[in-house]
Amino acid sequence: MIHFVGAGPGAPDLITLRGHRLLCEADVIIYAGSLVNPALLDAAKEGCAIHNSACMTLEEVLAVMEQAEREQKTTVRLHTGDPCLYGAIQEQMDALRQKGIPYAVTPGVSSFCAAAAALPAEYTLPGVSQTVILTRMAGRTPVPEREEIAGLAAHGASMAIFLSAGMLPELSERLIAGGYSPDSPAAIVYKASWPDEIVCRCTVGTLVQAAQEKGITKTALILAGGFLKEPYRRSRLYDPGFSHAFRPASSTEDTP
Ligand code: SAH
Repeated sequence: MIHFVGAGPGAPDLITLRGHRLLCEADVIIYAGSLVNPALLDAAKEGCAIHNSACMTLEEVLAVMEQAEREQKTTVRLHTGDPCLYGAIQEQMDALRQKGIPYAVTPGVSSFCAAAAALPAEYTLPGVSQTVILTRMAGRTPVPEREEIAGLAAHGASMAIFLSAGMLPELSERLIAGGYSPDSPAAIVYKASWPDEIVCRCTVGTLVQAAQEKGITKTALILAGGFLKEPYRRSRLYDPGFSHAFRPASSTEDTP
């Protein structure tokens, strides 16, 4: 059996209980060494075979999984954050399905959640934005044209931009082309939840300068949107004047 497990954003205690149990029980661990905190591997049992996928091809990863399966072993494929985002797991799952190898996915805390916690901030502020756009700049991996940053920025929604810390001049320019003003709020969160985490509030126009000042070139999320600054409306969920399935209205007061 193969378990795809979300390692969380970095701090070893931000993996789920299930993910940790699977790590402890695994006979084989294949971890994404470029981003997964190696401290998580301390959970591995004695004799567990550990492979770093950063220096492996898909074929090599699959070969390790197949061999383990032949020996009736349990494999954990450990991906950073949550495996459903930029984890390249679909191609692994499809290959396993073709080979008749059973697998399951255990989710993890994505870095965009850890970045919000580090700030701390809420992406979905009433009256500001109720939508979060998770995206990336096109780099060596292309992005469909219709998802170009300027087009997404035009929505004015909260944005969390992955895999783009090395392309800040272009990112800043595309966000402005899409409708943000240079002084719209932005933030850079480097290695959220790691001991060397850096949280840097800036503006869409000063992203480049802010990253340079802190020496940030990778492993960072770029956030943009009014949620980082704008005044917002109080939520209706906890408003005394608003009734819902679990609570009747207790006064006629309404949201400001
Ligand atoms: N599956 C992962 C994303 C992998 S793509 C997740 O759910 O978070 C790798 C990109 O994720 C990095 O380039 C960076 O933009 C972001 N990232 C991963 N871990 C991070 C962290 N701890 N802090 C900030 N950004 C992180």
